[in-house]
Parts: sequence; C-alpha cells; structure tokens
Amino acid sequence: MPRIVPIADHRNSRPLVAADALAPGAPVVDTLGRRLHDLRISVTDRCNFRCVYCMPRDVFGRDYPFLPHDALLTFEEIARLARLFVRHGVTKVRLTGGEPMLRRDLPRLVAQLAAIDGLTDIALTTNGSLLTKQSARALKEAGLHRVTVSLDSLDDAVFRRMNDVDFPVARVLDAIDAAADAGLTPVKIDVVVKRGVNDDGVLALARRFRGTGHILRFIEYMDVGNTNGWRLDDVVSGRELLEMLQREWPLVPADANYPGEVAERWRYADGAGEIGIITSVTQPFCGSCTRARLSASGELYLCLFAAKGHDLRALLRGGASDAELAAVIASVWKNRDDRYSDIRSEATPSLKKVEMSHIGG
Ligand code: SAM
Repeated sequence: MPRIVPIADHRNSRPLVAADALAPGAPVVDTLGRRLHDLRISVTDRCNFRCVYCMPRDVFGRDYPFLPHDALLTFEEIARLARLFVRHGVTKVRLTGGEPMLRRDLPRLVAQLAAIDGLTDIALTTNGSLLTKQSARALKEAGLHRVTVSLDSLDDAVFRRMNDVDFPVARVLDAIDAAADAGLTPVKIDVVVKRGVNDDGVLALARRFRGTGHILRFIEYMDVGNTNGWRLDDVVSGRELLEMLQREWPLVPADANYPGEVAERWRYADGAGEIGIITSVTQPFCGSCTRARLSASGELYLCLFAAKGHDLRALLRGGASDAELAAVIASVWKNRDDRYSDIRSEATPSLKKVEMSHIGG
C-alpha cells in the first residue's frame, strides 16, 4: 500500500505564539508550533457497548483487565489537573471514555470543572445509553455546555450489530431529544462510517437530522489501537461521503469555528443546517492538532495514536505541587513532535498504540 496522500486542506492553521511555559496563563507551543488548546479527559476505560471498530467483544471480554477503581483519577484529581491545563492555554474540555456516563456522579465532576475560570467550553461524548431527561438536566445544571452522541446508523439491525450489545436506535434518538430539551446544544451526532457495514445508511442519517439544528459528523474509520483489525479498504473517505451527500443536497464549505477544529464544516445550501466530515485518515490534520488527552488513570497522551503516556497520577499522588505539575505538563507539551496521521503508511497501523477506550475518543 502506498503512503496515503492527503487531499487539500482548507482549515485555518494556528499562528505560532512564543510562550513562557511556566508563567500562569501562558500558552505552550510544541516543537511543530502547535498550541495546547483542548483537553480530552477519559473518566473510565469501561464501556457498556462493544462497538466492533472500537472495543471488539473477542478482545474486551469478561476477562479483560479493566482498570480497578482506585487506579482511576478522582474527580478532585481531574479538576486539579484541568485547572493547570487551563493555565497553559486550554479553554475547552471534553469528557469521554470508555462510556463516561458509566462513572457515578458525573455531574459532580462537571460542577468542579465549571468552577474553573477560563474554561469556556465543557462537552461530553457519550453513546447515549444513559442519557435520559433527568441525567441530561443534571449535567446541564452542573454546568455542562454540550453533548456529542455517537450513532452509527438509523437502521436498527445494523446499529445493534455495530454496538454488539443489541442496543436499539430508538433509545439513542430519545437521548438526543433529552440532550436538546435540556439545552445541551448544539447536539452533535458522530457517525463512524465503515465500508460495507453502515455506509448505505449515510443519506438516511442526513435526511433525519437535516433541519433539526443537530450537527451530524461523519468520521473516517481509523486505525486506533491494535484490536479492531483496521484495513484501508474499510475506510469510506471524507471525499466519497461528501460526494454522496452533494448528489442529494448541495453543500457549501463553512469556515472552521476555531483554528484546529477537527471537523471540516459544510452547510446545506438550502439553509437546513450543517454537517461535519472528520478525515483523520485521508486528510490528516496533525499540523493543527491542539489536543491533549488525559487517560482515566492519569496518563497524559499527546496523540490518539500514541503508544505511551506520561504518568501524572504518580506525581499527583506523590505530593507534587501545582507548580511542579504545571511545569511537567508544559515541558511534555513543548517536546511534542508526533504527527502519526501525517506519516500513516502501510507499516504504521501495526505499530503498538494505546486503545481508544483507554485514552478516550
Ligand atoms: N462511549 C462514548 C461514545 O460512544 O461516544 C465515548 C467514547 S468513544 C471511544 C468516542 C468516539 O470515538 C465515538 O464516536 C466512536 O464512534 C469513535 N470511535 C471509536 N473507534 C473509532 C475508530 N476506529 N475510528 C473512528 N472513530 C472511532
């Protein structure tokens, strides 16, 4: 297989900013000029779904060694770290997993994050299975701004096969309504498209969510982790998806909301809203990647495709001061040089990588 050649990228690139990494509030910049801007926080490595492309049942079975509870960062530890990341320029946090809503009392964490000055966007990615009117309201009241719900197909049989726990589409649709009613908007709906599995349902999804104010985002199937048996042939490219949609409804490109936004935004020309396309495989965006990831056990990862994280939990539990922790975070980011998707090739999918359920999607 030849190296995958990126197609043209119309996203903005972030201006380079010189930084004193240790000064409070100072943005930190890595070796490729990328600023630290968003933090994804995994609150658990467990999930109640077994999506075939993420946590295949034959690997994540009964005997899988999930993290014991005392290995997980406490909410207080997470909030303390989040505050230090904000000092270094983070303004946006996304809670994820595993399935983040499996973590008991999640609104208590959200409230602690909402109290951090400078954090202007707190979002949650969920499969929706535990998102009800009550839980959505509790999250909103605690200070959550938005949710992204994953839904790969409207075809019940296809969806049940993909989540591999026989979970029905109807309950995810109810979760989306609950999120919207609670004001966790705009609701984004993430769809991983796998060739021959759910690509024939793309138009039905678009038709269902056009005009609702929800933002559907189609994600190229990625070679995360080492367990999903990824093959390039299974990837439906963003370009193909766009052509499929354009044949039905004319779309016009929209500017990124902020530099480094992962989704390429497109608006329906008839005013029925927008969709996003996330092309990590065919059109990588490493050059504008501003995301750090904190695993449920407190490792700082710099890339979704990394093999190893930096253990912040040991520092936290070893009595490190805020200044020491902040200095480590800044120094790890400043040394960052990864660009996995840019250099993806025949050899890279088999490189050892952390599983997505461990560091969070
Ligand atoms: N459990 C939550 C959920 O289902 O949204 C949050 C965690 S999940 C890992 C986050 C997102 O990653 C989901 O939208 C999921 O579909 C996506 N994802 C998982 N594996 C993927 C893969 N191989 N390629 C692309 N996206 C993937």
